[in-house]
Amino acid sequence: MSLDDFDRYPLLFGPSPVHPLERLTQHLGGASIWAKREDCNSGLAYGGNKTRKLEYIVPDALAAGADTLVSIGGYQSNHTRQVAAVAAKLGLKARLVQEKWVDWPDAVNDKVGNILLSRIMGAHVQLDPAGFDIGIRDSWEQALEEVRAAGGTPYGIPAGASEHHLGGLGFANWAREVEQQERELGVFFDTIVVCTVTGSTHAGMIAGFAQQERPRRVIGIDASATLEKTRAQVERIARHTAGLIGLKRELRDDEITVLEGWAGDLYGIPVASTIDAIRLTGSLEGMIIDPVYEGKSMAGLIDLVRDGDIPADSTVLYAHLGGQPALNAYSGIF
Ligand SMILES: *Cc1c(COP(=O)(O)O)cnc(C)c1O
Repeated sequence: MSLDDFDRYPLLFGPSPVHPLERLTQHLGGASIWAKREDCNSGLAYGGNKTRKLEYIVPDALAAGADTLVSIGGYQSNHTRQVAAVAAKLGLKARLVQEKWVDWPDAVNDKVGNILLSRIMGAHVQLDPAGFDIGIRDSWEQALEEVRAAGGTPYGIPAGASEHHLGGLGFANWAREVEQQERELGVFFDTIVVCTVTGSTHAGMIAGFAQQERPRRVIGIDASATLEKTRAQVERIARHTAGLIGLKRELRDDEITVLEGWAGDLYGIPVASTIDAIRLTGSLEGMIIDPVYEGKSMAGLIDLVRDGDIPADSTVLYAHLGGQPALNAYSGIF
């Protein structure tokens, strides 16, 4: 088995752009920092990391004869917005359960940004009062049942497309894409920094890079604030994905690194370091990051570079996974 044995339905423009962040590098005065931009990887409703995962899930949905994609996330879920866009593109329906994952005091939290885009694209959006949880939810199972009861053929995609048997493949492919881009650019990224919550982005990378057998650290920065759940999910999905793509050895424990310290106390609630990271990245690079995910992973990167945990002779690739539409629900901060 290898990655090439799995069908991939192209949803991206092509390889996502890789470029240096020169002013941020200079400002921090340590390791060289580059970014790979999943936030502009596709023309489907601004794209993002979930669109890349869906490239390997769509063929399975089509083979199953689905007419409705059923998924779940928070009110400001980037994932459900990307599912809505992919459904529109394929001529399928989207049924989205949007839970109150974040208790955020913004009057338009359930109206602007991601949820607005999903509504525009014709998704059936259902608000649910349940709180944050990255596991499988009853409300999602119930939505699947309701589609069936109405005579439809649902295809379930769990939160973040992570607890799906093909969920890690998109970012195993990302690792391969990085290797190709390194060859073209003449650089080697010894350190990757990525935000992790439902886990399959980070897990796919771990599996994909393990196959390359090069000395590379893949650092996941937790943004779930439920660290043990996320770490366990990353580990499980990484080992599963490594098996799917034919890694000929077990993953070592030291290949699975999820760092805490930048999530704050709650998923979806930015803390001071998140907001500082958003302002710094915006003002130095014109690169926009969000308060739920990327602001937290960038805060991690900033501290790791400043404190020398990532040494000054390192070349770091920051995985920008998207998520800017959620900023609209956080305008009060700025
Ligand atoms: C979903 C998401 C993440 C986290 O990815 P997981 O695969 O759920 O760990 C990070 N950043 C953004 C912008 C996201 O939408």
